[in-house]
Amino acid sequence: MMFAAIALFSAFAVQPVMVADKQLFEPTANMRTRNEILQSSHFRSEPPKRRYEVTAPIGKGSGKGLPKIHGPADSRLPLVVLDAGHGGHDPGAISPHSGKREKDVTLDIALAIRDQLVATGRVRVALTRDGDGFLVLQDRYGIARRLKADLFISIHADAAENEDARGGTVYTLSEVASDREAQRLAARENKADIINGVNLGGQDTEVSSILIDLTQRETMNVSASFAKLLLREAKPNMVLRGNSHKFASFIVLKAPDTPSILFETGYISNREDAEFLASREGQAKIARSVSSAVQSHFARRLAGN
Ligand SMILES: [Zn+2]
Repeated sequence: MMFAAIALFSAFAVQPVMVADKQLFEPTANMRTRNEILQSSHFRSEPPKRRYEVTAPIGKGSGKGLPKIHGPADSRLPLVVLDAGHGGHDPGAISPHSGKREKDVTLDIALAIRDQLVATGRVRVALTRDGDGFLVLQDRYGIARRLKADLFISIHADAAENEDARGGTVYTLSEVASDREAQRLAARENKADIINGVNLGGQDTEVSSILIDLTQRETMNVSASFAKLLLREAKPNMVLRGNSHKFASFIVLKAPDTPSILFETGYISNREDAEFLASREGQAKIARSVSSAVQSHFARRLAGN
């Protein structure tokens, strides 16, 4: 796992470190008050304690400022950052049927999810982009880290040469891809930064820390448990692939301390999926699935499970 820790750091080392973000994972006074609020509605026990402390460079400061936070103006409520994949000069996959671009579909889905989450009144929500802008991958999770997000959800739509391929898949981070297809997909999604001329190639750093490794492992476990919840909630609402939780090395999931998933919501290359993803009804079904999973997730976290 030390190898993983070093690999993780090298992902951060490619950018100038603007701010060192020292986060203590002991529950703070602020977190306790947040729990009191949530307990008053549904939850009872103390939150799980984070055991490790990590100092890691925060995502690159883009100078653009942080996005608006939607929902209740109460900083004690959990914050979910939604990341609409691609954007700007990176269209993502393009549907051979409708010509729809992944970057437009992912934005529509992210906005639908935002609206569903805000309607619950129980979480705050921010979007990495709410228009057709381009962001390098590190800026995407960098925004989540700078906002101290509790959950990061990146929205995508897959494409395959086989037009029959369809269904959603949820990915969480692993240095080892679960299969060749997962590896291929991660390589393609990670290409967004190459498009923008950013070299992510392995710059090593002297710095490595077992604490980063432990924090990352804990974060990966939380991410995987959210992935399972999301699939459970999505199952009645949409088509999912047979093996619908997979692992791959997506750059966008590499924040060591923010539970993160990448949701490939379906195949834009498949006629039915493309129609579903582009329709208001389909988007609302995806949004409801995510919203239910998010609520169960925070309920569980606070219950210490
Ligand atoms: Zn994508």
